[in-house]
Amino acid sequence: MSMDPAVRAPRFAVIGAGMSGILAAIELRRRGFENFTVYEKAARLGGTWRENTYPGVACDVPSHVYSYSFELKPDWSERFSPGREILGYLETTAAKYGVDCHIRYEIEIERAEFQNGRWQLTGSDGLADEVDFVIAATGFLHHPARPDIAGLAGFDGACFHTAQWDHSVDLTGKRVGIVGTGSTATQIVPAIVDRVGALTLFQRTPQWIMPLPNAVYSDVEKRMYREKPELLKQSYVYWAERFNETFARAVIGDRDELQRIEDICRANLENSVADSKLRAKLTPNYRAACKRIIMSDGFYQAIQRPNVHLAVEGIEAVEAGGVLTDDGRRHALDVLILATGFDGHAFTRPMQVVGAGGRTLDQQWAEGNEAYRSVAVPGFPNFFLLVGPNSPIGNFSIIMISELQLGYVMQLIDAAVKHNVAVAPTFAATQRFNAALRTAMKSTVWASGCRSWYLDKNGNPAMWPWSFEQFEADMRRVDMNDFELK
Ligand code: NAP
Repeated sequence: MSMDPAVRAPRFAVIGAGMSGILAAIELRRRGFENFTVYEKAARLGGTWRENTYPGVACDVPSHVYSYSFELKPDWSERFSPGREILGYLETTAAKYGVDCHIRYEIEIERAEFQNGRWQLTGSDGLADEVDFVIAATGFLHHPARPDIAGLAGFDGACFHTAQWDHSVDLTGKRVGIVGTGSTATQIVPAIVDRVGALTLFQRTPQWIMPLPNAVYSDVEKRMYREKPELLKQSYVYWAERFNETFARAVIGDRDELQRIEDICRANLENSVADSKLRAKLTPNYRAACKRIIMSDGFYQAIQRPNVHLAVEGIEAVEAGGVLTDDGRRHALDVLILATGFDGHAFTRPMQVVGAGGRTLDQQWAEGNEAYRSVAVPGFPNFFLLVGPNSPIGNFSIIMISELQLGYVMQLIDAAVKHNVAVAPTFAATQRFNAALRTAMKSTVWASGCRSWYLDKNGNPAMWPWSFEQFEADMRRVDMNDFELK
């Protein structure tokens, strides 16, 4: 890398202005790096909270912990605040920390190529930039997965994916079908059930559902959190610990904790759904938390409403007037909503990333996405990922994960700047890390036999198979023996 800090300040590109991109920008500024641009392909910041505007969208991680640790918000409206409030929080935070003016909107970076020690970026609108460091904050639950169902294009009514909600379609009194029963669909069903005429939920696989009582924060509570920030911090720590002691342990092999979670979910089903036939349809035949566990307080109530039908037969085809299931039944619909999730393995794609020696990231990841500790890739110097492959995603606050990863990335950046070099993990260290990861993965619940977006094309869970404590420890200090400086 031909960068002499005495001569010029290093230049950075952050790709994506979602939660992680804003975080990276704030941290760059905090460390005195002002020469950076955040490239955002959309016209607004906010990532997933900008994209997802479906009815009922909220975060099922408590707002007091689904916050930047340095910008706790005393006046979250609810324990699990709605999506638009989270979007507002991200916008307010970006403005407060003076990073919004660093964002260039409606520019999609199409190609990043490492040449002569720097990254050449090209993008839409004729964008060309040359930077020392790239921080890819492109997210992972971003590219809608459209189901491969025969006849889908021939549906006569409105049809859209949940992440591309068509707000011009009035659902009032309509016959609405929803395909999918993930976290998204289970938020939508209670939110629209009162408005629609009839709702058919097409379920391929039943879900384990944890009861999750929401609570509205009163003005008194909000004032208390404002006046006593230490209580807000305590709430942050409390929720982080609760998740760590329960889900985080259960998913990586604590059988007792996993059983406890499964028992709670089973009791929730039994106590909430009166009809035994419906209960049977809603009972999963795989371990709780193998798929991402659903958190919901309203789904079971909504599914029992008289205007709701749970269709568990396979979808044969979509026809002009509705959905044909494999029992020969035609479900007449006006609106078809695809709650079919995302391609959680695209990461930086479709951006073309070309590393040292002309090797592309697509070539390197042809057999699977392998990074060093989720944040860096051998052969791609000074190129870092936030919430990259195998980020511990479970049900933990992804903001906390991203902050820890960024702290690690910043240590690498400091080393590169100090020594005027480009830094990348070695192939050997990356292979070692991924071999250990595959071994540890075998005892996790994600590998216990179910279909989920956690699994990559080879059937390997793209998760972090160790404890949160180990993740924290691994992110605390860089082992420079695992890196090459050139
Ligand atoms: P998802 O969990 O991947 O669920 C997709 C659903 O669509 C599944 O029920 C799946 O069935 C079904 N499906 C897919 N293709 C189908 C087909 N061809 N025919 C019939 N059914 C089909 O997607 P999601 O609900 O959008 O959630 C994705 C992730 O986003 C979540 O796991 C979570 O991490 C995140 N999220 C978080 C929140 C939050 O509050 N924090 C809210 C929403 C989403 P199978 O189960 O049989 O595959």
